Amino acid sequence: SMWWGHVPAGAPDVILGIRDTYLKDPHPKKVNLGVGAYRDDDGKPFVLPSVRRAEEIIYEKCLNHEYGPISGEPPFTEACAKLAFGEKSKPLCEKTNATVQALSGTGALRLGFEFISRHYNKTREIWLPKPTWFNHPQICDAVCLPMKSYRYFAPKTLGFDVDGAVEDLSKAPEGAIVLLHACAHNPTGIDPKKHEWERLSKVIKERKLFPFFDMAYQGFATGDVDNDALAVRMFVDHGHEVMVAQSFAKNMGLYGERVGALTILCGDPETTARVMSQLKVIIRTIYSNPSINGSRIVQEILTSPELMKQWLGDVKSMADRVISMRKMLRSAIEAAGNKRTWNHITDQIGMFCYTGLNPEQVERLIKEFHIYLTKDGRISVAGITTKNVGYVAECMHKVTS
Ligand code: PMP
Repeated sequence: SMWWGHVPAGAPDVILGIRDTYLKDPHPKKVNLGVGAYRDDDGKPFVLPSVRRAEEIIYEKCLNHEYGPISGEPPFTEACAKLAFGEKSKPLCEKTNATVQALSGTGALRLGFEFISRHYNKTREIWLPKPTWFNHPQICDAVCLPMKSYRYFAPKTLGFDVDGAVEDLSKAPEGAIVLLHACAHNPTGIDPKKHEWERLSKVIKERKLFPFFDMAYQGFATGDVDNDALAVRMFVDHGHEVMVAQSFAKNMGLYGERVGALTILCGDPETTARVMSQLKVIIRTIYSNPSINGSRIVQEILTSPELMKQWLGDVKSMADRVISMRKMLRSAIEAAGNKRTWNHITDQIGMFCYTGLNPEQVERLIKEFHIYLTKDGRISVAGITTKNVGYVAECMHKVTS
């Protein structure tokens, strides 16, 4: 190459790498539990009936394809904020939320971190739970924000280490930024309980830390969008001015449409207007304005009472299928006579289960049994079906006994 011969190869994406190996594997019983996308009971991608209906309605409207506003259509962003914060949320009533459309959850995180990197004048350190979604540190790196971590997962109990988290955060410097998974923590599937959220809120308040919520799975944890917004709404009630990154990839199955939103609570209308103007400056230089197809679908669903009702049912049906697969997987492993405890499979929530399998056991599952998952032992429960659950359980039993 004339110009690029010195460029080193970038690290391959772990999840997409798993998908490629899976696709090439000719074994008839192969199972992909790597990817974080919902599958129906035939292992097929699922288009929500409410989304199909919204698409039909939009098609019938014969809309044009003009540019949308830089920050997204106001009815769309308002509906997003209401979904996250609740209808009667004080900041929404006072209009002190700066909400913009973003390129799904990843784009919302990137935009939020970019905003922090340009305008934050307190301690520019992002505290991430340990472990966290692998892309969080990469995005922090991309905008040159230093990272720290706070304890989250307790290997002994396979649960949330609330004491460790509170202790670590109580040592964070004033003004540091704390990243919180609003619900359905990825990769562990373990969420703080209500009283544990209260403790987190308290230490974050006392230490004057800044809470940034990543809300990629609203509705997916419990099947109820309001339940899953508990932490965000509690923090707002406690007077925190939070930042929230929202995604519609999972809860509307709009993965490839790349539709999401970023909200910054600003405290007063003047600040809100200035923050909004700076968000638009950033958006303008990256992608100018957002895509309009996915957001039209979301807007149609969230602003039509009838479609909204249908969608809430669709979300619940996805969450319920995942919950029932957890039960079947656990009881099948136990029925095989496995001596370990497997209650964590049903205790954990959301799309993922942190199985507790070690790297050697994971390696065996992949090489001997053609079951694909990440090295940390995380499986996507959404990839389990009534047809493959027996095989997955049998193999998990074999590698752990
Ligand atoms: N945050 C977390 C914790 C996630 O697991 C994901 C999806 N894997 C995202 C954000 C963002 O996903 P997307 O960009 O597809 O909305």
